[in-house]
Amino acid sequence: MSGAWTRQGAVPGVGATLPPPVKAAATRVRSFWWLVSRRGRPDRSGLRILFYHRVSDDDDPLAITPCRFGEQMELLAREGYEVVDLATAVVLLERGVPAPNVVALNFDDGFRDVGENALPVLERLGFRATVFLPTGVIDGTSTFAWYDDDQPALLSWEEVRELDGGALSFEAHTLTHPNLLLLDDEASRREITQSKLDLEARLGRPVDAFCYPAGLFGERERTFVAEAGYRVAVTCEPGVNVSGADLLTLRRRQIDPRDRRLDFRAKVGGGHDTPLPLRGVYRRLRYGAGLKPEQEATVATTGH
Ligand SMILES: [Zn+2]
Repeated sequence: MSGAWTRQGAVPGVGATLPPPVKAAATRVRSFWWLVSRRGRPDRSGLRILFYHRVSDDDDPLAITPCRFGEQMELLAREGYEVVDLATAVVLLERGVPAPNVVALNFDDGFRDVGENALPVLERLGFRATVFLPTGVIDGTSTFAWYDDDQPALLSWEEVRELDGGALSFEAHTLTHPNLLLLDDEASRREITQSKLDLEARLGRPVDAFCYPAGLFGERERTFVAEAGYRVAVTCEPGVNVSGADLLTLRRRQIDPRDRRLDFRAKVGGGHDTPLPLRGVYRRLRYGAGLKPEQEATVATTGH
């Protein structure tokens, strides 16, 4: 277990959540409910975006094992899903093209093990994914707050440039991975805007997508994202994205290290499209003090 969990009681990178064993048990119950009520039939009403952080055997609440990741991707391939990056998925969403067999894949934070352990699987299966990079952390001028001195290796800029446009493409995730809600206007705007400019300079192409760190955002952050010129932004609110959805607050479902095969099937199939019942309460307890009323409203309601 990483220091982050014991120190903050939160799964790092995705903000406060339930303790892993409780979350896993609650997830399992819900997966069984989906299996029974839907007889395991996937809901195909819109686009689901799955997100991961690390693919590694390390003991880290953000790491799914390469073995389990491989099994999950094989399952998607066997069931005929087309697995695409965010940009591709959004084009389909904007066109209103019904794409019942499309799933979008994201990796947050730019860990090197994604290149080592996920990329070969994606290439073999013809899948694509989007990786969200906090540019200052990749630069080495900032570190993730939840690791002590054991921060796992990140992709280097050289690797990012080399990989971009293949099975992986890279998009923005602020400069330093802060809780944007706790920053003043100027700092919040800079995190959002400057990371786009930095990444565009590194990649030599426009960067259109943004990921709110830990999924924490309010109306203010959404406005800054729009003003910075992003076309698309993703949250950590679970759910399905249908045609006409707000492209600056797209929903995603995290795949957890403890998810078993049934949980994964249920997440892909729509059995986990709402937050776990206690999650909102837990997040408000964790973040409530730092939220302005309108932000709290956004954080509290976006899952519904
Ligand atoms: Zn992140």
